[in-house]
Amino acid sequence: MKAAVYEGPRTVSVKDVPDARIEHPCDILVRITTTNICGSDLHMYEGRTSFETGRTLGHENLGQVVEVGSAVSKVKVGEYVVLPFNIACGFCKQCEKGLTNYCLTMQPEPALAGAAYGFAEMGPYEGGQAEFLRVPYGDFNALRLGEDAAERQVDYVMLADIFPTGYHATEMADVQPGDQTLVYGAGPVGLMAAYSAILKGAGRVWVADHHPDRLRLAEEMGAIPINIREEDPAEVVKEATLGLGADNGCECVGYQAHDPRGKEDASLTLNGLIDAVRFTGSLGVVGVFLPEDPGGAATQNEMEAHGKVPIDFGTMWFKGQKVGTGQAPVKRYNRALRDLIVSGRAEPSFIVSHELDLSEAPSAYAHFDNRDDGWTKVVLHP
Ligand code: NAD
Ligand code: ZN
Repeated sequence: MKAAVYEGPRTVSVKDVPDARIEHPCDILVRITTTNICGSDLHMYEGRTSFETGRTLGHENLGQVVEVGSAVSKVKVGEYVVLPFNIACGFCKQCEKGLTNYCLTMQPEPALAGAAYGFAEMGPYEGGQAEFLRVPYGDFNALRLGEDAAERQVDYVMLADIFPTGYHATEMADVQPGDQTLVYGAGPVGLMAAYSAILKGAGRVWVADHHPDRLRLAEEMGAIPINIREEDPAEVVKEATLGLGADNGCECVGYQAHDPRGKEDASLTLNGLIDAVRFTGSLGVVGVFLPEDPGGAATQNEMEAHGKVPIDFGTMWFKGQKVGTGQAPVKRYNRALRDLIVSGRAEPSFIVSHELDLSEAPSAYAHFDNRDDGWTKVVLHP
């Protein structure tokens, strides 16, 4: 089968790989029809992780079930399903608590957190930027879609990661109706966090970034754009709230945060939120920050720079702020978010800028990695 394969820093090629197949009675086999490129793929694409060459990328996947293992009882051949990026067993101590993002069964290295498709440090599972995908524990790891699935794939595929991840940021930030919320980052994840805050009834939502095309999408959904090249988000928000600050904030940038001139500084957005959010307010951090050495990083210096982030903990403590971090437990939210799409209350596909054939993955990665103007979210159809 054809797949988008990592070949080394900033090199992806579409080539033949061994066919995905049922390996366990609980597996299902999915013919992938829609699969996204995510900001998280870029950590691997840019060579910042220990992701091995020859592996298939892709953790935001949707498709049609073509085969089920002998122990699968719920999911049926022919159904469309969307696959949460977290791969989980459903029966371990963590899964029983709803923490499918830190499943103990699927991650073969106890020191590492959770499992995912096509991801460094997250198990041996291949990605879905390919014609077929093996899904372990298919009854647990597939969210079944209704009859409109084939026509509305580009909305439903957002349930694999970024819609629930953006929503998770707002949950950790405790966004309530009427709240004033600052979101750092107008990439796909930041846009989904702002969208979730608006769906929850937030009073005012600011979105900070510097890409005009991404800020325009934020404005179109009803958020207030802040261009970091022109204004300091924390100052804008404090001024608009008579000095009090936002009720809460979402960090949707991660360690690659850069200053208005483009110099990377992983502390910028966290310190911006600590400054901008009021006393006792909450911060939801879904942007990725990598540990110092998550098991053999490509460049140790980079890992140290990204793992140890100098944040103003004194101010955070003084203000009594709360912070939530980590990967999103997609399964916790995606059934409810699916039903918002079914009813027409949510249409997360508004962020999609490109729908391309899988064969165009190499150039799509390059454009998305450059954050070229107009390349907000790329959807591939194998
Ligand atoms: P992206 O790289 O497309 O978007 C990041 C945006 O942040 C860019 O538009 C960039 O211009 C902007 N930015 C950079 N520095 C900034 C600053 N100082 N202030 C404001 N904006 C700034 O990526 P994405 O797909 O939106 O993902 C964002 C982050 O979320 C990544 O780290 C990704 O790995 C992570 N992520 C986490 C989870 C999770 O489960 N926690 C899931 C998906 C993605
Ligand atoms: Zn993703």
